[in-house]
Amino acid sequence: MDQVTGAAERFGGAAQYIAGGLRDGTGGETFRVVDPATGRAVWEYATAGPADVDAAVAAAKAALPGWAGATPAERSDALHRLAGLLAERADDLAGTESLQCGKPIRLSSGFDVPGTVDNTAFFAGAARHLEGRAAGEYSPDHTSYVRREPLGVIGSVAPWNYPLQMAAWKILPAVAAGNTIVLKPAELTPLTTLLLAEAATDAGLPAGVVNIVTGTGTVAGEHLVAHPDVAMTSFTGSTAVGRRIASLAAGTTKRLHLELGGKAPFVVFDDADVEAAAHGAVAAALINSGQDCTAATRAYVQRPLYDAFVTAVADLMTTVVPGDVFDPATDLGPLISAAHRDKVAAVVDRARGYATVVTGGAAPGDKLAAGAYYLPTLITGAAQHSEAVQSEIFGPVLVALPFDTDDEGLALANDTPYGLAASAWTRDVYRAGRATRELRAGCVWINDHIPIISEMPHGGVKASGYGKDMSSYSFEEYTQVKHVMYDTTAVARKPWHRTVFGAGRP
Ligand code: NAP
Ligand code: MG
Repeated sequence: MDQVTGAAERFGGAAQYIAGGLRDGTGGETFRVVDPATGRAVWEYATAGPADVDAAVAAAKAALPGWAGATPAERSDALHRLAGLLAERADDLAGTESLQCGKPIRLSSGFDVPGTVDNTAFFAGAARHLEGRAAGEYSPDHTSYVRREPLGVIGSVAPWNYPLQMAAWKILPAVAAGNTIVLKPAELTPLTTLLLAEAATDAGLPAGVVNIVTGTGTVAGEHLVAHPDVAMTSFTGSTAVGRRIASLAAGTTKRLHLELGGKAPFVVFDDADVEAAAHGAVAAALINSGQDCTAATRAYVQRPLYDAFVTAVADLMTTVVPGDVFDPATDLGPLISAAHRDKVAAVVDRARGYATVVTGGAAPGDKLAAGAYYLPTLITGAAQHSEAVQSEIFGPVLVALPFDTDDEGLALANDTPYGLAASAWTRDVYRAGRATRELRAGCVWINDHIPIISEMPHGGVKASGYGKDMSSYSFEEYTQVKHVMYDTTAVARKPWHRTVFGAGRP
């Protein structure tokens, strides 16, 4: 382990953040965090067992009355301080994220970390605007109002592709609304989640409000999801695991929030700016090496622009340079692991049997051979129902397909099990309007693809799950509304009692 971040050094082997402090896991196993750019181990920690999850849930439960009872202003103050600390620690966070994920430093320092700081600032403000809606006399004899209340202890499970941001998306709305939380990061990428929890304590969030258990999905994850003291599970990850979690959560009637996979279409109509569309497609397909649930994966291009689009994308892809993730000149990092790279390569290799690999389709050699790199890849000629078009590849792979009529383009775009995000490229306002109405996805961009913003919700439909991250909509996930109804008459024998006490009774 010759490359160690400040975080890994400070944490020793302790990866469980419970009741405001780090401790060793008691799961009986150790896990190595590997830098996917070099294949070298950068940290080793003791994984969580069921007892650690129980301890974290107990800490969250103990912290709940105090935190739920704090005023919105108190919770908001703590989150404002957290935003400030995260901004101060931006270099450490970005470097650590790049190390454990193989993210180019331009991405982690320009997107992951500032996005998290902004999210924190947003929820610090939003905490003070959380309110129940109606108060009024909806019946002549009663006053009704709505209280919005926290749910209790939230159990969250997060993926490895944007570890810091995914942890922030789950933790911030939950604690802003007065819940406490236990979050399990992906075992591959726990470091920045632990830094976030440490910063939360430094910012003055009471011990036990934010707890992190680090271990495998099957041990720590399943124990957390099935835990009787957890009121809700919020999950970001694959559709297969989301379905497993839904079945586990059924046993304790938990509320569920599932942000699952995607296979986003990118629809280019024949009046679009083809150069803008080609640049947009390459950026949106290759961001985070394509390990982005909203990445552009299927480009449907109307016939007159198809050849020009394919040529431009193939040319642009060869200009995207893989390399050392800490070199600011590097455009593309490795995939998360050699195992995941091999899965991506296998999909592309199978596609050679039914389609054309126009560019890429291989790992770079030489100095990058020890990392989990894979070159930007464009596939054409694949049938709509082929694996490359239907399955989530989660790598730097774009498939391009032609279409003729607008009807056909939109129908093909909607023809996968997923519905997380989509984009349409056109200069015709009516076509754009139709695309925004008819594309079945949680987000539709016009003439862009990827940008997100703290004020706006993120979440899918169909096999991409349900529930929203970010924005004030996420409070719907992490709160319950309670109807309170007061009698205003002070009459002992109320008119509706006639349904039980028949006529002629005194
Ligand atoms: P994953 O395999 O589903 O894992 C996600 C998390 O679930 C990890 O922490 C994992 O733990 C845990 N897990 C695995 N099995 C579990 C089980 N039986 N019970 C409880 N937890 C379990 O997904 P991934 O490979 O990390 O991430 C890629 C996927 O996430 C893609 O499908 C992508 O589209 C999706 N994603 C969606 C969004 C969105 O907002 N919709 C955002 C990002 C990613 P371990 O891996 O540590 O064992
Ligand atoms: Mg996994």
